Amino acid sequence: MLAENFTTMSFANDLGLLLFPNYCSVCNRNLMYYEKAICMHCQSRLPRLMMCDEADNQVEKVFWGRVPLESATALLKMPRNGVTQRLIHRLKYHNDKEVGERLGALLGHEMQQSMRMCAFDYIIPVPLHPKKMHVRGYNQCDCIAQGIAEACQVSALLNNLTRVQHTTSQTRRGRLSRWNNVKDVFWVKDPELLENKHVLLVDDVITTGATIEGCAKALLKVKGLKLSVAALAVPA
Ligand SMILES: [Zn+2]
Repeated sequence: MLAENFTTMSFANDLGLLLFPNYCSVCNRNLMYYEKAICMHCQSRLPRLMMCDEADNQVEKVFWGRVPLESATALLKMPRNGVTQRLIHRLKYHNDKEVGERLGALLGHEMQQSMRMCAFDYIIPVPLHPKKMHVRGYNQCDCIAQGIAEACQVSALLNNLTRVQHTTSQTRRGRLSRWNNVKDVFWVKDPELLENKHVLLVDDVITTGATIEGCAKALLKVKGLKLSVAALAVPA
């Protein structure tokens, strides 16, 4: 029965590929059956940072004096108008969830092979603002977290860290008060689940680090929780 199901599924999959071939998110060529979202050629040319084993790397420095982290890393450099920026844009605005999962998987494999970032209890994505979730229909960080979780064989908790919806408009506030606002909009639904666990918090791009800092403030209230951070990209 199981074998029969498997055959049916792979037949459906092959048929799906025949009817709706997949294309590389970078060069738009047809993907081979063993490629996912990005062809091997484009994958080999991604601007990888390879910083998982580098203590005091550029992502960790963003949080010095602000958030006590075990470790932090990012997968790709993001120069203006480069391939990373195009991929992140596709992930956020063009429904290309597969590219988020694929890049997440590359990040997960890289962490698995490192000494410093190979052991976590849970993967938690930065939650999207509810209004954006309503418009976009998905949280791009969920896709990244799922890719990492699959590669590392660790559970992704997609709804435990949540973002509280603002009741007042932020647009007329000053910069500092807006930042203070970001710090206070996250909360943990089930803190007991995370007690004494090592959590990997996942974001798409780390720039000022304010969003991560807001999430960390909520997560680090949990007893004994250790926190690390991983992102797809940092500006070059
Ligand atoms: Zn390609």
